[in-house]
Amino acid sequence: MMRQYELVERVAAYKPDLDEALLNRAYVYAMQKHGAQKRASGDPYFSHPLEVAAILTDLHLDEATIAVALLHDTIEDTDATRKEIDHLFGAKIGQLVEGLTKLKRLELVSKKAEQAENLRKLLLAIADDIRVLLVKLADRLHNMRTIGVMRPEKRARIAQETLDIYAPLAGRMGMQDMREELENLSFKHTNLEAYETVTARLEELKERHAGTIDEIERVLSDRLAESGIHADVSGRQKKPYSVFSKMQRKALSLEQLSDIFGFRVIVETEEECYRTLGIVHCTWPMVPGRFKDYISIPKQNGYRSLHTTIVGPSRQRVELQIRTRAMHEIAEYGIAAHELYKDGIDGDEQDRRLANESSAYAWLRRTIDLLNQGDTPEEFLENTKLELFQDQVFCFTPKGRLIALPRGATPIDFAYAVHTDVGDTCVGCKIDGRIMPLVTELQNGDEVEIIRSKAATPPQAWETIAVTGKARSAIRRATRMAIRRQYSGLGQQILERSFQRAGKTFSRDGLKPFLAKLGHREVEDALAAVGRGEIASADVLRAVHPDYQDTRAARPGVKSDESGWFSLRSATGMIFRIPGEEQGEGAPGASLPIRGVADDMPVHFGPDGAVPGDRIIGILEAGKGITIYPIQSPALAAFEDEPERWVDIRWDLDAEMTMRFPARVRISALNEPGALAEIAETTALNDANISRLMTVSSAPDIAVMLIDLEVWNLQHLNRTLNQLRGKACVTDVVRVNG
Ligand code: MN
Repeated sequence: MMRQYELVERVAAYKPDLDEALLNRAYVYAMQKHGAQKRASGDPYFSHPLEVAAILTDLHLDEATIAVALLHDTIEDTDATRKEIDHLFGAKIGQLVEGLTKLKRLELVSKKAEQAENLRKLLLAIADDIRVLLVKLADRLHNMRTIGVMRPEKRARIAQETLDIYAPLAGRMGMQDMREELENLSFKHTNLEAYETVTARLEELKERHAGTIDEIERVLSDRLAESGIHADVSGRQKKPYSVFSKMQRKALSLEQLSDIFGFRVIVETEEECYRTLGIVHCTWPMVPGRFKDYISIPKQNGYRSLHTTIVGPSRQRVELQIRTRAMHEIAEYGIAAHELYKDGIDGDEQDRRLANESSAYAWLRRTIDLLNQGDTPEEFLENTKLELFQDQVFCFTPKGRLIALPRGATPIDFAYAVHTDVGDTCVGCKIDGRIMPLVTELQNGDEVEIIRSKAATPPQAWETIAVTGKARSAIRRATRMAIRRQYSGLGQQILERSFQRAGKTFSRDGLKPFLAKLGHREVEDALAAVGRGEIASADVLRAVHPDYQDTRAARPGVKSDESGWFSLRSATGMIFRIPGEEQGEGAPGASLPIRGVADDMPVHFGPDGAVPGDRIIGILEAGKGITIYPIQSPALAAFEDEPERWVDIRWDLDAEMTMRFPARVRISALNEPGALAEIAETTALNDANISRLMTVSSAPDIAVMLIDLEVWNLQHLNRTLNQLRGKACVTDVVRVNG
């Protein structure tokens, strides 16, 4: 633990005329008040305010701020009172400590509607004196550094709050080092897996490019020295969180990340910044579109620098930041870099001078003024468009709960941020009361109502629409689960039937003792393996009933009795039911979404397709589930010897389904201009689609082509084929394997 004199020495190093007595009094008072209190780690509690004070000495803050840091937890956690602190340290310090005490009670990431109100309180507390914010940020930083001892649940909540509120706030105040450290510490506790993956990748890249990075540094230093520029060149690797958020923002993979190396060049004058830039651009090719002049036009938080990206000797991209020492201090310490707290100027005068000197502070003032004008916190958030969190959007649930999301987030991300169950069952959304598409980019202040359906499973395609890691991994999981459910349901039906045929009774529990033999740990997994065709039903029978003899039962024909049929249903509720006897009733519009099913169902069509009205047979294929063939397909001959792979299957169509089905046809046509156009037109006039067309042979007179049609059903297909046959240019039309 830091000693009293060490703390005083630290402050004295940048502020020779400090009020030493004030620091000493605060140190002793806080140490006595916290007494024997311990932190969760077992360390003396006082080590915490002391470390917070130390962080603030790194920012070169005045002794009043350091004293506030030492005292910041006394009112909340000990018997100290505002009155006593006022008496011992003056009303100003008392006010600041009380401000921090109030903040401590705010839970910014809570499940309550008060979130917006709490955020407003936070900003109002800061409004009293910006030093409250500086101490609060240092407090949070130390808590994040020592968060490891907490319960995982609490850890995740605090890390999320840090990521949502405090890290952007530090950034907005121009304190980049503070922001980065807060982000990386939080990243680790909100998404450990991603943190570790990104960190490992960065290490690997660092090792791989170490040589060329050294070379760039050497060449750059030499060139600058030749030109008489005294520069401080330091290499710098991007931090895991900034790499991760860039991946998320731009939907990049780790492999696509190239510009993770950077250099910071610190020179003496503004003019030297531009000369340095010239030297850099003359030495290496620059990457177009990446040059930014924040000296001429500073960022909103007061940040100034030149940024450019070059292509290094081994073709990797390297970013350079060029700035003066003074710009560097603002970049590192932000608002804390302003010297004003060392003068003991308080109140309006301090306020006016700070607002003049620091655009970050001026921004904060403006925001708070707006806040004071707004009637409700929600209005405030909307009014300010929350410039504070430039990378984030803030939206509300209909009950007023605040949901913070990265910019570019969609209602899908919103739904998953509310709760995984809400995301999984989301089917639509209303934004500010209007039905909007789920791909809509959310804006600050949007009120989002998620429309849910119990039966829904998130479509796989959402994974590419969602921008938050939470939504993406939940969608992936839900899709995986849905597919497994499909396969295991299918597996169970297959087993029930083959057990029945063998005169045995199937039960899920009956499988349990034999799971190891089947190579699976869960009944569900074993059933799914049967559904996927990885385990033959006969093998399961033999495992459960060692006396079972495979009688090589004749393969089931389409005329099996009714009890032998089963139907598959996807999450979206369709599949195979026979409409009438043989022919599809064929109300146009009735259909089977096999297309969409290819992804989320263990069923797909063989190469020649099948349409409602066809009699169909399914063949189990390892790893693929069921492939559907029309009963007359010659391809079925290949499976003659494997009756256990045959599955009886029937159409099951809902009248509202609007899906088409594939059928392959072979058309011979006169090889003359316009023939193809006529075929296409006839097809279109019959409301059939051509999904693929291949020319098989083209003789001088006759062209033979294979066309994959998409039709409603067999009637529709036959009608279309008859129309084609009627064309003068068409010599022959046959359905392939039809
Ligand atoms: Mn604290």
